[in-house]
Parts: sequence; structure tokens; C-alpha cells
Amino acid sequence: MVLNRWRDEDAKKFVDAAGSDPADQELALRVYTSRLIGQDHDLVLHGGGNTSCKLVRKDLFGNDVEVLHVKGSGWDLETIEAAGLPAVAIEPLKELRSLDVLSDEDMVNAQRRNLLDSTSPNPSVETLLHAYLPHTYVDHTHATAMLALADLPEVEAVVEEIFGDRIVVVPFIMPGFELAKAAADIFDQNPNVEGLLLKQHGHFAFGKSAKQSYDLIIEHTNMVEKWLENKSGKLPKRSSPPSPDMLQKATEILPMLRGIIGDASAKFSGNRDQAMPVMDIRAGENVQEFLERSDLASLATRGVATPDHVIRTKNHPLYITRDILAGGREALINAVDDFVANYTAYFERNAARFAPGEKTLLMPTPNLAWIEGVGAVGISANAKAASTASDLAEQGILAMTNGEDCGGFYPVSEEKLFDMEYWSLEQAKLGKGAPPKFQGKIVMITGGGGAIGLATAKAFAALGANIFLVDLEQSALDAGLKALGSFHAGMALDITDKGAAEKATQACVKQFGGLDILVSNAGAAWTGEMAALDDADLRKSFELNFFAHQTFAKAAAHIFEQQGRGGQILFNVSKQAVNPGKGFGAYGIPKAATFFLLKQLALELGPKGVQVNGINADRIRSGLLDDDFIAERSKARGIDEDTYMAGNLLRREVEAHHVGDAFVMLASSPRTTAHVMTVDGGNIEASLR
Ligand SMILES: [Zn+2]
Repeated sequence: MVLNRWRDEDAKKFVDAAGSDPADQELALRVYTSRLIGQDHDLVLHGGGNTSCKLVRKDLFGNDVEVLHVKGSGWDLETIEAAGLPAVAIEPLKELRSLDVLSDEDMVNAQRRNLLDSTSPNPSVETLLHAYLPHTYVDHTHATAMLALADLPEVEAVVEEIFGDRIVVVPFIMPGFELAKAAADIFDQNPNVEGLLLKQHGHFAFGKSAKQSYDLIIEHTNMVEKWLENKSGKLPKRSSPPSPDMLQKATEILPMLRGIIGDASAKFSGNRDQAMPVMDIRAGENVQEFLERSDLASLATRGVATPDHVIRTKNHPLYITRDILAGGREALINAVDDFVANYTAYFERNAARFAPGEKTLLMPTPNLAWIEGVGAVGISANAKAASTASDLAEQGILAMTNGEDCGGFYPVSEEKLFDMEYWSLEQAKLGKGAPPKFQGKIVMITGGGGAIGLATAKAFAALGANIFLVDLEQSALDAGLKALGSFHAGMALDITDKGAAEKATQACVKQFGGLDILVSNAGAAWTGEMAALDDADLRKSFELNFFAHQTFAKAAAHIFEQQGRGGQILFNVSKQAVNPGKGFGAYGIPKAATFFLLKQLALELGPKGVQVNGINADRIRSGLLDDDFIAERSKARGIDEDTYMAGNLLRREVEAHHVGDAFVMLASSPRTTAHVMTVDGGNIEASLR
């Protein structure tokens, strides 16, 4: 059941905030109900769906212009603002209806040149459909229940059974001019309907007011849900927390699968160092139950619930049965190879309908996997895209289950899906703008909530990496994750505990599917001259400043091995490792061991393509060198704090972000290993050979 979330008091707040212009107030209500729709993921997901309203605005001469405010591309209904509903002069759009054909490029251009504000985003590709319906407010969703209905083989009969003549069915046509014309013609023949059901696509409803149109969206959707429930005798299962069992199995499978898909992508792109994809697993009860269906093999070849999904998930999932899983790495490689071959054949079959060279084959690797007993896995260039693919996959699962149990799930044909996936407007975007340098890279950082750890995380994240922070303190971790924003994750734990490294790397795999770079950064100093040092302090320091580096390196190397595509380990060593400071033995000695560990690992992991490098930094403001300590040290030396902090060859303070940037630099050097870079402003005694 989809809730009607309209609240008069909330609506009033939107109107009040819009100022005195009645048109702005109408638009504010449009924003309000667009958000209500966007907030309900059973109605729309990830930019799917769109809304509009028709208003009168003044031009520069004070003349009235009838405009259509319609969702602009790049905006999401969930968070839309007035600026996300650009105004287009409606008359010129109506004139277009007399044309027999209009290319997508010409349509986009006509929409753009009739914008009231030339800086607005592109109006939706469904703009003309909104323009040709006479109602003031028009709402369009890809509601899950509506998709189940839209993909039924007997959709017309069922729509009549549920709605009588309240809703009329529009045959499937790709979004754009042709669909707008066809839908408008059908509406003109049925001018009293409250909505349209676009076959194999979605739902439209409309009304005089924002509330009326929204109410209909909810009412229609609930009528369909009820019908589906009665017909199947089941309540639909929605996304739920993952089963720990399935997640555990995923930690064994995902890194291997990630590496195999990485190999296939590298082969396709011709770039040996091609990034591997990032993954997002869903393993709730809904997915678990779905993956046990006896008709899963058949459903895996049917297609997607609404053509929009194809851009994110491709036409079919990579279907991994228990038999394939039992066959291990070889069987998985074969499954991925088969997927690539099938996808390439699908491309060639359909591209043949176009001029030679008109269509460019996209990366032929899977964007979604159904893994029996493990989960549904979104696979994409970064965590955000992978999560989108998974969200759509879960919606698809619900639509498929409902549809298949109520008459059949029959989405659009392969040809039509191809036309959507290889749409000229989408193809035109290809090759424009290189992806961020660290896109697809999963970076784990210990001590991630501290000054250097977080600065390093930010430096990697700014270049597109997805970060997994590890920190002792939950509060530092939370603050770090908040600073990084969405699509990063982390875990609070004591890295010196037994099994901590495995726990952290497994959590990272569950989150993102694997690991590319470990920044083994956490450290702390115990002080005291060696002759007087408590053995227990030295042991504690060794646990953190040496053994934790070793256990995390070992756990990371294990994931790298499963992936089979190299990896990187970066240590935060210390100038103390080569240049002892009085009273810092307890810190410097384990760091010296870590320095040697770096070389040992570089030697042993090199043949597997794993690079091992490190940073020797010194005198950075951090938890280790806090304000009190700085005050004490500078006083002891009889100099002011700034001079103390800049006490190096360059006479410049070294800051945490300099260390972060240096880690990024090392990670950017694909043919460098066993190297330690100094980031200390210059210290000749601590300089390396
Ligand atoms: Zn649509």
C-alpha cells in the first residue's frame, strides 16, 4: 500500500515560502507533490518519473506566455526544487505536434530554444507528452505495482477490470516525440480518463490541482496493488536487511567475481590497469526468496520492468547458479565470458538495423548479478552507480514476482530495449569527459578518523574513490564519514584485536565487493628512554605500530589474491624509522620494523602485481602531535610554535593534506613499489638513499 503523504500544513509551508506571485505559488505546490512522489521509492526511483504544471508567466514585454514547468534532466523528484522544473513556452511545443517525424536531437533542441531561462537544465524527454495533455498538473511514475501491471500479457483486459474507463492503455513506444503524439491522440479519443497506463513503461495521472493529480497517482497505484495481492494471494515483499549468512557467502564470491569482471573489462578496453567495478549486494528476504524461484533461469532472460532500467542494469543479469558456484573460479570465468559473448551478440544483432558504425558497443560486462544463495549484486563504475543498479534490481524483482504470479512478466522486446540502451542521445554522451582518476577504486584507511587518515580519505574521495574508514573511536569514525558524504563506509574497531583485520576487510567486501588500496595509517606514540621503558609499553607499541600493519597487509593481500588483479598497500611509516628521536624508541623501533616489512612485502607480493609503498612524514598536527605537545616542544627549544612547526629545510609547516596528497601520488604511480616518500619539509638526517 502506497501512502498518501499530502498534508495541508506542509503544502501551505511551500506556498508561503514561494512569495506573492500566484504562479510561483502554484509551482511551489508542484515542487511539494513532486517530492512526495520522489520520496516514495515504490513510485519512482533514481530520476525515473517526471512531473509538470502549466502556468502563465510574463515575458520581458509584460505579455502573458503560457509555459510548461517540467522536470529538468539531472534532477531527482525526491529533492527537486523550483529550478529543477524549468519553464518552456508551450505554444511552440504544441505546434510541433503537426509534424510527422521529429528526431530526438531536433526535439531536444526545440525544447531548449523555448526555455524561458536559457541556463535551465534540459527539459525531460517526456516533455511533449506533458505538453499535449490539457491538464494543469501531470504526474508520471514508474511505480512498482504499475510496472507489474504494464508488463502483463493481457494488460488491456486487466486495466479495464481494475479501472473501467478511468484509465486508458497506450502501446509501447520509446519516450520522445512519437510516444507523445500517440499518447495525446489516445487521450483525445478518451478525454474523460484520469490517467494513462503506458504499456511496458509506466503510469500517468493528471488533474486541475497538484493535490488532485497526486491523489490519483496514489489511488491508482493502490488499486493495482490490491488487484495484484488478490490475484496472487500474496503480500509483496520489500527490501529488507541482508541475511548475515548470504553476506558471509558473498565475502568468498564477490572479490573473485570482481576480479574476473575486471579482467573482462580490461580485455575489452585494452587497458591492462583498467579499474575493477564496485559492487552493491542486496540479500534481504525479498531477494533470498526470489533467488529460490524455480523459474529463475527463465526470468533471467526476460528483460527489465521498464526500459529506463536498461541503462543501469543492462538487459539481463549475470545469472550464477549453485552449480556455477560449485565449479569455482573456472566456472565463474566461463559464466562471465558467456555473458560478454551473449551481450556482444545482442549488440551486433541489433546494431545491424542501423547504419554501419552508428552504434558503439558499450562495455559488455554485467551490471547486475543474481547469485543463488548469495544475493542480487549491482555492479558498476562506482558505489553510487552500483547502488542505483541494485535499487532498480530490487524493484525489478518485485515487479517480476508480482507480474509472473498474476499472468506473466513480459517486458519490451529485445529490439525496443536495444533502442533505449543505444539511444542516440545516450550514445552522444560516450567518450565525453574522462572518469575521475580513482573511480572504481576501493580504499581502506586505518586511523581514518584522525587528521592524516581523514585528509588521505578526502584526497582519494575527491578523485572518485570509495572509502572504507577504520577507526578506534566510533565518534571519530562518524565525524569522518559525515565529512566524506554518501557512498563511503567504515567500521569502528581496535585494530590490534585478534581477527580485527579480517573483520574489517570482510566488512569492506560486503560493502563494496572488494579492495584496491590499503592505507595502513593508524599509529600512536609511547614515549620514554629505552633504558627506563616499561616492557609493556613497548609491546603495546609493537601491537599497533608493527603488528596491526602486518595483519592488515596480510588481510588485504588475501583479498588482492582473490581478485587476482594486483593491489596496493601504503604504510604510514615515520621519520623515526630511520632517524631516532630521543625518548621515541618505543615508537621508532616498531616503525623501523614496519619499514622493513614494506620492503619484505614488496619483494614477496610484487610477482602478484601488488605494490607496497609508504610515507615518512614528520611533525604533522594530529592526535599524535597535538597543541599541548607542540607548545611543550617549542618551549623546550626556546622557539615560537610556528617556527617549531616549520623546522625543516623548506621552512614550511607540513600539513595533514600534504601527506594525503602524497599517498594519492604514490597510488597514482602504477610502476612504483618498495618506495618510501618523505613528506617532512626536508630533513637531511631522515632522508633516504
Ligand atoms: Zn517514463
